[in-house]
Amino acid sequence: MFVRDPCGIVCIIVTYIAIFYADYVVIRWIILHTMQDSLWGPFHVVSFNTVVLFLMMAHMKAICSDPGVVPLPQTRMDFSDIHTGGSGASDDCEERDDWSVCTRCETYRPPRAHHCRICERCIRRMDHHCPWINNCVGERNQKYFIQFLVYVGVLAIYAISLVIVSWVGDCPQCSTDVAIKQNRILHCVILVLESALFGMFVVAILIDQFQAILGDETPIDRLQGAHHHYQQKSRRAITLLAQVCGKSHPVFWLLPCHNPPRYSFRRDERLIDHDV
Ligand SMILES: [Zn+2]
Ligand SMILES: [Zn+2]
Repeated sequence: MFVRDPCGIVCIIVTYIAIFYADYVVIRWIILHTMQDSLWGPFHVVSFNTVVLFLMMAHMKAICSDPGVVPLPQTRMDFSDIHTGGSGASDDCEERDDWSVCTRCETYRPPRAHHCRICERCIRRMDHHCPWINNCVGERNQKYFIQFLVYVGVLAIYAISLVIVSWVGDCPQCSTDVAIKQNRILHCVILVLESALFGMFVVAILIDQFQAILGDETPIDRLQGAHHHYQQKSRRAITLLAQVCGKSHPVFWLLPCHNPPRYSFRRDERLIDHDV
């Protein structure tokens, strides 16, 4: 599923430019200038690019994964009574538990599914539509979205640390050529600003994400004041996190290549509601 949203496409391009620029500055202006003769040079090249690789894998997974689109009905349903606000519809809704009707998709949707105007579909356990991944953050890709945020945060801290370390050490070429020194200062300042900006941005979103997961309530649930009966049952943090990250061992939760469990579309689903 690829969403044709200009804002989302621009955000993805900006993300890649930012990543490649950071990689360029770290290798060309920090490692090559200050760590050329030590083993720290190749070590940082490999480890920095490993984080970049994991970041891009998580980002790609978040972009390309199905966030949990509610399938459209095979046969067209009659929703004329709902469109006209007839009373017959509400009885039908009651009967169907906390499932509701989306008049835009003209389909029944499970509890906590919400309609996204950009994707033009209902998304299960929709958190929000994120332009940075040009996709909705929902039940099935929230894990990749969080991984993406964590790797951006790690990369930002790593880049700032490398700038600090490189300024403590000396730069043999800088002492002979003023132009090189000026270029290096300029690139390092831009890299620190970029890393600080993206770093603070992802930390803010990460805090929000964990509050939503541990509170068992998406921002849309909160806005709508929805209070589901299953929220009243207090559950352990690990159970709530497993709901997003999958049933695998927590060690694997940050690996962008590990697949989350496939959720069924059965009506009686409460996901992995049974307490661990
Ligand atoms: Zn819908
Ligand atoms: Zn969306």
